[in-house]
Amino acid sequence: MKECVFCKIIRGEIPSKKAYEDEQVLAFHDINPTAPIHVLVIPKEHITSLAEVKEEQLELIGYLHGVIRNVAQDLGLENGYRVVNNCGQDGGQAVQHLHFHLLGGRKMTWPAG
Ligand code: AMP
Ligand code: ZN
Repeated sequence: MKECVFCKIIRGEIPSKKAYEDEQVLAFHDINPTAPIHVLVIPKEHITSLAEVKEEQLELIGYLHGVIRNVAQDLGLENGYRVVNNCGQDGGQAVQHLHFHLLGGRKMTWPAG
């Protein structure tokens, strides 16, 4: 999508610090980290949010979670981590391109705000 900030990152029009990339998925460090490790994992295909995922895209979403697991392992998060998806207005989604936050390197609290 032309004006989408994460599509621009995928195309290399906006720089990012990549943690992992393949044909389907990109993982890059969040520009405004809220934990010592804060990586965003996104599909290269533009999907607006989790609510917009189609049946035929569910395999991709499963694959993406395997990437999250591998990136967490690569970054040494052996004590655990948190995966967050903010979906829609009430979910606090700011960027309208599906992304999963991988947060780690500190103890997380609950409940979420
Ligand atoms: P969300 O509120 O779930 O939509 O999260 C969007 C995330 O994208 C925030 O944590 C932002 O800090 C992050 N973000 C926005 N622009 C960039 C960028 N150019 N590079 C890296 N992370 C970004
Ligand atoms: Zn996009």
